[in-house]
Amino acid sequence: MNKVDMDNFKNQLQQMRSDLDDLEATYKASAATVVLDQTSVGRLSRMDAMQGQQMALEAERRRKEKLVQIKSALNRIERGTFGDCVVCEEEIAIGRLTVNPAVTRCVNCTE
Ligand SMILES: [Zn+2]
Repeated sequence: MNKVDMDNFKNQLQQMRSDLDDLEATYKASAATVVLDQTSVGRLSRMDAMQGQQMALEAERRRKEKLVQIKSALNRIERGTFGDCVVCEEEIAIGRLTVNPAVTRCVNCTE
């Protein structure tokens, strides 16, 4: 991979990382607003609140997972192994990295 492509992916990954960092604040704010008041909130809205909390937890789990993948891609850029498949060590197609720069396997090694 040439340096220009590598720099582009690096910028893209750093942008993705900062977007995900921003989302953490949103998650914390929404988690804080879910207060289950037994006396003033009806049964249905309590269920809504719990469901919303569940969805927020799931979104937070996915966010952390993505963040790990992005940080590991940035580490691979530093080490100079970015763009190589972790399984067969062949170069991953640029088109595939453009869709998701955090991808670690070439199309042949994808489960
Ligand atoms: Zn491979």
